[in-house]
Amino acid sequence: MQKRMFYFLLIFTLLQNCQQTAAPTKTLQSLPIEEKVVVLPKVIVYDYDTTAWTDIGLVDTSIVLDIKYATTDNFVKEKMYNCGRCFLRPTPAKLILQAHKSLQEKGYGLKLFDCYRPKPFQQKLWDKVPNASYVTPPWKGSMHNRGAAIDLTIVDENGEELEMGTPYDFFGETAHHTYTKHSAQINANRKLLKDLMESLDLKPIRTEWWHYSYQKEKYEISEMIWECPKE
Ligand SMILES: [Zn+2]
Repeated sequence: MQKRMFYFLLIFTLLQNCQQTAAPTKTLQSLPIEEKVVVLPKVIVYDYDTTAWTDIGLVDTSIVLDIKYATTDNFVKEKMYNCGRCFLRPTPAKLILQAHKSLQEKGYGLKLFDCYRPKPFQQKLWDKVPNASYVTPPWKGSMHNRGAAIDLTIVDENGEELEMGTPYDFFGETAHHTYTKHSAQINANRKLLKDLMESLDLKPIRTEWWHYSYQKEKYEISEMIWECPKE
């Protein structure tokens, strides 16, 4: 009888163990799809000196980049930059990122046409158009050559540019802030951009609705040329 009981207990224990091992384990295949997705933290690879520069498009990918001098769609009809990236000095960069965030809260965003312009490209531009009314002589250097100026506009939630009365780099009276004969909508769009920029210490110039610069810090003219993705 004791022997029987021993065997009974032995089989019972074995069966229990068996059940335990047979219990369904969570394999990768059995996981629902959403549990298979491993979300890795976003890693930004900086390929420049981050103490001197910020690449706006790299740190906020929701900003629309349309760097005109990296295309032939510019007033000299020639591709100047090897590729389009938007570099600014860290302080003005921070302000532009702030401006974009505040526009996003209203369903808008920024679109950037030109940012830091390396001195060698300013020379190229000057060689093409040696006229100080349109291009700053490279020896003088503009705020763009110092990484403190930006050319930009506002886009709606579909990425469409708000009407500003003239295209970017249109040289004429209708591009001036002082021109008063645009529609109420255009005036309101320009005002939205100007008020926002001025609230962040980014100063306009009278003749170009798209140009703003940060003048509270002095920066050297730079020859830094950014890296481009390998073809
Ligand atoms: Zn400009």
